[in-house]
Amino acid sequence: MAQHFDYICLGAGSGGIASANRAAMRGAKVLLIEAKQLGGTCVNVGCVPKKVMWYGAQVAEAMNLYAKDYGFDVTINKFDWQTLVSSRCAYIDRIHGAYERGLGSNKVTVVNGYGRFVDNNTIEVNGEHYTADHILIATGGRPSIPNIPGAEYGIDSDRFFELTEQPKRMAVVGAGYIAVEIAGVMHALGTETHLFVRKHAPLRSFDPMLVEALTGFMEKEGPNLHTFSTPKEVVKNTDGSLTLTLENGESFEVDCLIWAIGREPATDKIGLENTDVTVDERGFVFVDAQQNTSAEGIYCVGDIMAGGIELTPVAVKAGRLLSERLFNNMHDAAMDYANVPTVVFSHPPIGTMGLTEPQAVEQYGEDNVKVYTSTFASMYTAVTAHRQECKFKLVCAGEDETVVGIHGIGFAMDEILQGFGVAMKMGATKKDFDAVVAIHPTGAEEFVTMR
Ligand code: NDP
Repeated sequence: MAQHFDYICLGAGSGGIASANRAAMRGAKVLLIEAKQLGGTCVNVGCVPKKVMWYGAQVAEAMNLYAKDYGFDVTINKFDWQTLVSSRCAYIDRIHGAYERGLGSNKVTVVNGYGRFVDNNTIEVNGEHYTADHILIATGGRPSIPNIPGAEYGIDSDRFFELTEQPKRMAVVGAGYIAVEIAGVMHALGTETHLFVRKHAPLRSFDPMLVEALTGFMEKEGPNLHTFSTPKEVVKNTDGSLTLTLENGESFEVDCLIWAIGREPATDKIGLENTDVTVDERGFVFVDAQQNTSAEGIYCVGDIMAGGIELTPVAVKAGRLLSERLFNNMHDAAMDYANVPTVVFSHPPIGTMGLTEPQAVEQYGEDNVKVYTSTFASMYTAVTAHRQECKFKLVCAGEDETVVGIHGIGFAMDEILQGFGVAMKMGATKKDFDAVVAIHPTGAEEFVTMR
């Protein structure tokens, strides 16, 4: 006989775990199903291990670029990739432990196995059937691989984190967050890194100031950026190296190739055909403003949502709000997908929120948009030979100059944005920004001193 729960969460990534815990805290009897390790993409093969690698790259940059002008005579005997990997894995193990303890103290039942829908109310895992009044689909995504000859010789971002040795030469193909972040980290750690984008620049949809600045940094400091470069085929050579040939006829020999061309939803093998859940042609699940799918009692959060935002904190917030609605009588609880702040851990980092300048002009009309910019040589770098300029922009709209876009690239921008995000979410105007006394000397003060 099937075991019955109030709530089943299919997928123990950021969204599933957050929703399961919150539901259990509100008194629901919860089952969480996961085929792999707790934490999903973010904890195991995404945000967390990436950030550790990024910090490793920061250490390398501090020693290689900045230490000398601060008076340190540093001799680096070697960089041991395996030590960095071990520290990273140990950190992730501790997160797994914390998740297990949190779920245990909330009395969430966890089943390890691949769950599939049998019908709208029933999930089968490891041959057992489980039913629930409410079921959340939070199965996340997986990297896409291009359909070209030899594509199988490249690896994706999941397998990047399995590398046991540092490649000497690496090709990264793609133009989004993952491509930019991996290419930046590997370059800083000493790998000869080539980033191939098929159009004029990486991160094309970001504010033009950010795109131009990032491209400028890459041209000056690396990694090697190859624009208008579309892969045609990959050949594995007898010595194990790979030859990547582009459509324009150019070819490059590397030791490792990473595909970072976007992600697809992991919804194809979970038995959705046995339910009334509808998906788009790529398998993304349609939901309404309160995460309801087209099937009653089935909900969806995270990277598999049609029209969603593929960011961990978005899935977490949506998952928690859903549980508040289902199990805590917060009938109107709904995730606000507008004005989500986000950071790309590039070199230097990018922070961005709200409308780009072109989007604001399109939405409000050119006459109703006022843009403020500032350039500031980050003090950390300005006293060294590797002076690096930060760029900041506020996009304001309407007579009262409401801030509708905040964009920055430069040292510490990853930490600067969050607080300004609160102000923007509250509807702050340029005047409100100006009313705040600057903290000096910082990069952040540029946002409250722009003219
Ligand atoms: P993205 O969707 O961000 O970017 C992939 C890009 O690769 C596309 O936009 C496209 O850019 C290019 N591309 C697509 N197909 C091809 C192809 N066949 N050949 C060459 N280039 C191609 O995907 P990512 O995989 O980088 O990241 C997935 C999501 O994960 C992101 O959207 C982000 O939300 C999230 N993420 C967030 C991070 C963070 O918060 N710091 C870090 C990492 C990921 P173009 O059209 O310009 O060629």
